[in-house]
Amino acid sequence: MSFNNLGLMPELIKNVAAQGYTIPTPIQSQAIPVVLEGRDVMGGAQTGTGKTAAFALPVLQKLSQSKNRSRRPRCLVLTPTRELAAQVGASMIDYGVGLHLKTAIIFGGVGINPQISALRRGVDILVATPGRLLDHAGQRTVDLSGIEILILDEADRMLDMGFIHDIKKVLALLPAKRQNLLFSATYSGEIRRLADGLLNQPEFIEVARRNTAAEKVDQVVHPVGLKAKKELLAKLITEDEWGQALVFTRTKHGANRLATYLEKQGIEAAAIHGNKSQTARTRALSDFKKGKVQVLVATDIAARGLDIEKLPHVVNFDLPNVAEDYVHRIGRTGRAGLSGSAVSLVSADEEKLLRPIERLLGRSIPVENIDGFSRNPADVNEETFVNFRRDGRNKRGGGNRYRGNGRSGSRPQVSGRRRAA
Ligand code: AMP
Repeated sequence: MSFNNLGLMPELIKNVAAQGYTIPTPIQSQAIPVVLEGRDVMGGAQTGTGKTAAFALPVLQKLSQSKNRSRRPRCLVLTPTRELAAQVGASMIDYGVGLHLKTAIIFGGVGINPQISALRRGVDILVATPGRLLDHAGQRTVDLSGIEILILDEADRMLDMGFIHDIKKVLALLPAKRQNLLFSATYSGEIRRLADGLLNQPEFIEVARRNTAAEKVDQVVHPVGLKAKKELLAKLITEDEWGQALVFTRTKHGANRLATYLEKQGIEAAAIHGNKSQTARTRALSDFKKGKVQVLVATDIAARGLDIEKLPHVVNFDLPNVAEDYVHRIGRTGRAGLSGSAVSLVSADEEKLLRPIERLLGRSIPVENIDGFSRNPADVNEETFVNFRRDGRNKRGGGNRYRGNGRSGSRPQVSGRRRAA
């Protein structure tokens, strides 16, 4: 299969080639012809499958071939996060070179006036997060009555983030006759209800279940004491000569503290999380993409939808409380056919979080102790104490499975790769 057989116009094929893509991904080869036909699509695909180009390419083609050249937006893409809006908007611009279509990206946390000016100048494609879009609608600085194509990207994330009412308000502002594309990594009852109300005889296209991205990722657990995590991370980054890494922490403060520590160790690092201004988040992400920053420390929300090409390492500095977030996190690496590594630094109090993750993955994650960093009983007592304080109740006797230096009976051990302390 090549991009030539999908019914795309030469300009788009050229722009895709300029991005270095030669073979369409499964979601692209299935969705592009259907979208070109004008049909509604329910796409079961997560980030990393190439879903952006799967909708962007046919939409660009349809808009550029249409005779309707109104100054009102004709295509609306709704995304859950600012970062995803920025990425989808950038993809529209990259794939649309030479087509004379205007894309505007609208999200909150930044000044509204430049957005108003852009909308006034005339826009074909609007990529937006729901809240800021509704602000514009309230101020009558956007006119959605010309929308011909609506795309809900990462619809499950939008629902998780509580955007259902905002989505409904936006839908009420759109013309009834339009083409609808809905992309979601999961099919919850809520997504089905949204799809039922929105889509007209849709084509169902499903690719790679959400945990298959994890198959290409080389995963390992390093058991380590809570306090030694920072030091172990710095050691792995420097001694193993990692390129860039995206590191996840559970809290915003944890992200800041870790970035500061790494900087002190001479490792260029930046933190992104919800307390940072949009400008600071955008700058950190762009410095990371340019390679100026080696390590980006992020919380789950801030990292949602981040598209960083060729990211070799993802680190779970803290394990996520929700197993599905683990799969989302490690889906940041091993994309589009590249292999990647996901390293989890697991303290004794986090052992209990591993089992649901392994159940979701359908397999166990190899454990590797690193010389000089294995846990010792003193760590366990201390972590149990930290847990006790955090949860406000004593966990003794309940759930805190300590597997003694990570040597679990059932999980495979990686040996023979001992590192010097
Ligand atoms: P997405 O799922 O849209 O976030 O895309 C995931 C990544 O795959 C992005 O970095 C894209 O640039 C890249 N990509 C999209 N389509 C292709 C393709 N046909 N071949 C190789 N890489 C692609």
